[in-house]
Amino acid sequence: MAGIKDILKNDPRGLVARAYGFSELAHKDQKRKSGEAYFMHPLAAAEILHAWHLDDTTIAAGLLHDTVEDTGASLDQIRKEFGEDVAFLVDGVTKLGHIKYRGAAMKVENLRKMVLALSKDLRVVFIKLADRLHNMRTLDALPPAKQKRIALETDEIYAPLAYRLGMQNLAGELHDLAFPYLYPEEDRWLKKSVEEQYEKRLAYLEQIKPELERILKAHEVTPRTIDFRAKRYSSLYHKLLSHEMNIEKIHDLVAMRVILDTVPECYAALGAIHQAWPPLPGRIKDYIAMPKPNSYRSLHTTVIGPGEKVIEIQIRTKEMHDANEHGIAAHWLYDQKKTGGETAPKNIARELQWVEQLKNWQETYRGAETNPEEFLQAMKIDFFKDRIFAITPRGDVIDLPKDATPIDFGYHIHSVIGDTAVGAKVNHQIVPLDHKLSSGDLVEIVTQKNKKPSEDWLIFVKTAAAREHIRAALRTKKNTLSAQRVPTKMELKITVQNRLGLLKDISEIIARSHINILGVNSTTHPGGHFGVMKIQCGIADREKIEKLILKIKKLKEVREIGFKLI
Ligand code: MN
Repeated sequence: MAGIKDILKNDPRGLVARAYGFSELAHKDQKRKSGEAYFMHPLAAAEILHAWHLDDTTIAAGLLHDTVEDTGASLDQIRKEFGEDVAFLVDGVTKLGHIKYRGAAMKVENLRKMVLALSKDLRVVFIKLADRLHNMRTLDALPPAKQKRIALETDEIYAPLAYRLGMQNLAGELHDLAFPYLYPEEDRWLKKSVEEQYEKRLAYLEQIKPELERILKAHEVTPRTIDFRAKRYSSLYHKLLSHEMNIEKIHDLVAMRVILDTVPECYAALGAIHQAWPPLPGRIKDYIAMPKPNSYRSLHTTVIGPGEKVIEIQIRTKEMHDANEHGIAAHWLYDQKKTGGETAPKNIARELQWVEQLKNWQETYRGAETNPEEFLQAMKIDFFKDRIFAITPRGDVIDLPKDATPIDFGYHIHSVIGDTAVGAKVNHQIVPLDHKLSSGDLVEIVTQKNKKPSEDWLIFVKTAAAREHIRAALRTKKNTLSAQRVPTKMELKITVQNRLGLLKDISEIIARSHINILGVNSTTHPGGHFGVMKIQCGIADREKIEKLILKIKKLKEVREIGFKLI
């Protein structure tokens, strides 16, 4: 496959060639932790960007992405040598490098939004993703603590971001690369238990492949290719968590993939397969008529094949396949072709398909609170023109509307902080309470016990939540009784690695939190390493429940925990 070397050969004085020379020289005396020359890293990132079919500006910026942060080169120098666009991209990637995710307390979605807000031009995100992919591929060389942090950040921020951008393959690879660092024990268990199953499945599919070809041929459908897709370990693990760790229940451990030329052929193939092998009810998915929120398109079906074995089959065109693998980068390529090589990447957000994709992207995010209409509106103009992202002293990112003040910020964290606010600091400087916050501001609220909000705060606050809290506090004692109907019980669902006495330990933690246990169901599987406990308890307030969950999570046998009110 053609790579950066070919670009250099074809255009030895072009943008990419000059960026190559500049970066190689700038990193000349640096080594990576692995002992390799540092330049290997930006070069690898640029190769990845090239493989994603991105333009020369992006590839040049990929080569230069670490020069400002890690060498004597300045942004001005980059601007003079390579122009405004390259400098803008390098600057964006440098800024993204300053965000450090340490898990737990951080609002993950806000952080992802901040990544986008700081990016403005999506090509910044592509470079960051290429940078991260190469770093993950070479994570072995780093000290363990750093490996963990980078793997966690990759798993929770960058892989989901790639998935949202439709870059399915990349998202899967990032999750897989992070998995052994985050779950070393599970990784070993999984590899051991899956290997045999996996090989058996593969041998079976190889064996029935000619039969599938005959079936299709009888219906005058000629596939471009038929291959096999092994489920990734990381996604297999998450699927196992919701299937009680029972590998027998996973039908798509290895799926068959049929690539065709046209959409009618896809449906014809589906019909032909169903005539030969009966489909399992409820398992036929038409993601061509109804694409997934991230634009994924394909037909999926699960059938009972020869020897009564369950097979998952995915059917799609070559174009869908490429788009599924490369996501937005692939759309970007098509757009570039449409405009006859004249690129206008900053306008790409105006492409309908694209905006639609980002809209869906937001709508489906679990736990998203933002109104999709509002989100779309913000997207159209300038990713997040109407939002700002302020940071708490603990490093949480708080998402607020434009022109929000420290009072809005305070109420967003907790009503008590808002109610008792007497002063504020922004980036360590004292500011008035009606100060307008900007993205990236580090905000501290100074509080004083028993203070009450002032009526004139109502004039400058921007969020409805702050306004409501202020009004409520001003009304004070009036009508504090509310007639809300409350559920009476809650149920904790805990996926665990079995250990004698574990249930007792968990029960004790619950009891110590002053929560009553009303009933317990525990399922363990024969020969099973893992099981699920369902514990019904009396109800507690949200804060108490969250504290309890954190405590239970600390037990090393606990893999997943959730709760619902019943
Ligand atoms: Mn880098």
